Amino acid sequence: MHLETSYPVLPSPVQPLEHPLFKQHGVRVFIKRDDLIHPIISGNKWRKLKGNLAHAKALKKKGVLTFGGAYSNHIHALAYACQQQGLASIGIIRGEEHYQNNYTLRWAKHWGMKFNFVDRTTYRKRHEQGFLDELSNAYPDYLIVPEGGSNSLALSGMAEVMTELSEQQQFDTLMLPVGSGGSIAGLLSSTTRREANTQSSQRMLGVAVLKNAEYLVNEIEQLVNRQIDSSYETSWQLLTHHHCGGYAKYSAEDANRLADIVELTGVPFEPVYSGKMMLALFDLLEQGYFTEGHTIMLLHTGGLQGIGGQLERNIMPERLAKALQSHLPSAPQVQ
Ligand SMILES: *Cc1c(COP(=O)(O)O)cnc(C)c1O
Repeated sequence: MHLETSYPVLPSPVQPLEHPLFKQHGVRVFIKRDDLIHPIISGNKWRKLKGNLAHAKALKKKGVLTFGGAYSNHIHALAYACQQQGLASIGIIRGEEHYQNNYTLRWAKHWGMKFNFVDRTTYRKRHEQGFLDELSNAYPDYLIVPEGGSNSLALSGMAEVMTELSEQQQFDTLMLPVGSGGSIAGLLSSTTRREANTQSSQRMLGVAVLKNAEYLVNEIEQLVNRQIDSSYETSWQLLTHHHCGGYAKYSAEDANRLADIVELTGVPFEPVYSGKMMLALFDLLEQGYFTEGHTIMLLHTGGLQGIGGQLERNIMPERLAKALQSHLPSAPQVQ
């Protein structure tokens, strides 16, 4: 009998993860599979977009305007989610027009997103009030959502991860990849987490996927404190030395280590986000970072569409590409 899966899959499943090194170091490892919430809308983007799209509809907006790079998971997820919700979408994209033929933007276009390609200087203004005012004057019927979807509506969507986890599996450390910091801020601001933390000492460990990410610590604290009272003691840490050379960069050796992990666990860890979390986990284990008996919960944040652009540009080493390619939905043909 064929059972049709209906989406979103919530709560997202928690699975035990097996690896000889986990046994050797006496730790238990679980993974929360937010990548399984939806086949197209990437895990944490699903959680971050939900509240934003509901807000756009409540305001009776015609659509949503947002910002992103040419390979952005956020752009891809938002274009699809808007189409599903009957909303129009506009993407302010960093880069040149020819990018619209790449895997990510072909899909976004297919789902009706209109692009506005801008150079780096213009793109840098994406957080400036003056620029945002200009955009809302030009597109009064559109709700403006920041890059990565990281705003207060996104934080409460992410916080639901903690509510789900409180009923799924106990753990000592929750680990996740960090880009703009919106996701970890959402998890930290969860009231469920604060209640749980009065009894246990759950820690959160973010793995920065970009270089020189120290500035994010402040941004994350600010995002969290905007959401909750600032006397709240946070027990979290941002690891800033596991970016593998910068955003979306990694060495041939990193790719081989990651291919090993994907093959051994059967979980599709892509090299931009969750793959870096995994490489960091293995480095930490080897350094004796976790005490024996420790339980680690990993958050798979999704983002598998990003594999598409890397395969297309032939920049992913063959072994890793082989291990990951079956997890990619096929792209529409360029017209
Ligand atoms: C956007 C993204 C992240 C980073 O989330 P932030 O909230 O920006 O820190 C992590 N993983 C995946 C797969 C993403 O697409």
